[in-house]
Amino acid sequence: MTGYRSGVPDNWFVDPVQLGVPGVRRPLEGDDGNPLGWQTDALCAQTDPEAFFPEKGGSTRDAKRICTTCDVRDQCLEYALQNDERFGIWGGLSERERRKLKRRAG
Ligand code: SF4
Repeated sequence: MTGYRSGVPDNWFVDPVQLGVPGVRRPLEGDDGNPLGWQTDALCAQTDPEAFFPEKGGSTRDAKRICTTCDVRDQCLEYALQNDERFGIWGGLSERERRKLKRRAG
């Protein structure tokens, strides 16, 4: 036999989604049809949930600080806006801040 190589190298195919080709949408992570699927990566689930739903007038500083390092912050905020979540900190924003954002967007 000569040095003929048959077979296709494993890496011949480059997935356009992996490459980030414009127009090819990267599927949302955790998007398995469950609108709350992103919550599996929610940082607040591993911390004190009460910080995210403080009593009236309570501090939201700790919760907001956690949100700044959360991987699913965008999905969280979007979910809260779409579902009109009224209470608690979502995506790093308080009720009042979300209302303001909605007014500006609308
Ligand atoms: S952004 Fe904040 S409230 Fe939303 S999932 Fe992350 S930690 Fe929780």
